[in-house]
Amino acid sequence: ILLLYHVSIKRHDEKIGTLFVYRDITAEYEVDQMKSNLVSTVSHELRTPLASVLGYTELMITKDLKPERQARYLQTIHQEATRLTNLINDFLDLQRMEAGKEEYVKEKQPFTPIVEQVIENFQSTNTNHNLVLQQNSAYDHVSVDRDKMIQVLTNLFSNAIKFSPEGGDVVVSVQQQEHQLYVHISDEGIGIPDQELGRLFQKFNRLDNSSSRKIGGTGLGLAICKEIVEAHDGKIMVRSAEGEGSVFSIVLPLVEADKHFQSEVECGR
Ligand code: ADP
Repeated sequence: ILLLYHVSIKRHDEKIGTLFVYRDITAEYEVDQMKSNLVSTVSHELRTPLASVLGYTELMITKDLKPERQARYLQTIHQEATRLTNLINDFLDLQRMEAGKEEYVKEKQPFTPIVEQVIENFQSTNTNHNLVLQQNSAYDHVSVDRDKMIQVLTNLFSNAIKFSPEGGDVVVSVQQQEHQLYVHISDEGIGIPDQELGRLFQKFNRLDNSSSRKIGGTGLGLAICKEIVEAHDGKIMVRSAEGEGSVFSIVLPLVEADKHFQSEVECGR
């Protein structure tokens, strides 16, 4: 976005030229955009759960309710308070990461067991999607903070599930390409329009489609994923076709295995 200034140059009241000054205000515009996204997220995402916590507690205090109804209200209060806590935690996590204050405990380890762990976690709670692991890499040792990678994969899986129809496949493939490990997470969901792809990893960015509005979220998950992956000298990317599905990819540098791991690889593990 360019702002154009015209400046007339005069000598003794006689115009001798015009100076055109262009100022690129894209960055300012983006900051403004982010601030207004922040305000709308804060007002919506914080006030909505609080309003329902207040509403239900008020009912419980003032009305003589049957135990079943009380139990239902308590469940809603708990759900809404959890949503609020998640938002605040995500927000603080991201602040810490952006300030470079997050501590990463990186250890050399194979990546596939981390993927398997996350798949297992999802399989125990979600039976509506088929989670499939395609392991195409004989060698997958990376130096990572295991918990942080679980956080990244959990967020990508949860988006893949949230934004795709029940019964759909979510396929995770782990591939080695030269000195890098590629992890692709593909879904058969609603997809993302081309013009949105560029700013998908910015915080508080949620697509303005009916699914995103209906499905809860903070718009912080992908920004957190990007921070974590980049803190591991990696990259996160997305390809998508509207109505067909999306593929989120993480690229991490492979590291040489310790002797112990090396012998496992050589033994044809
Ligand atoms: P949240 O899911 O909490 O809104 P994210 O940062 O994880 O926040 O995602 C931002 C937005 O990107 C989502 O609201 C959604 O509009 C879009 N999105 C993310 N993942 C997918 C996906 N797999 N398919 C379609 N849209 C997606």
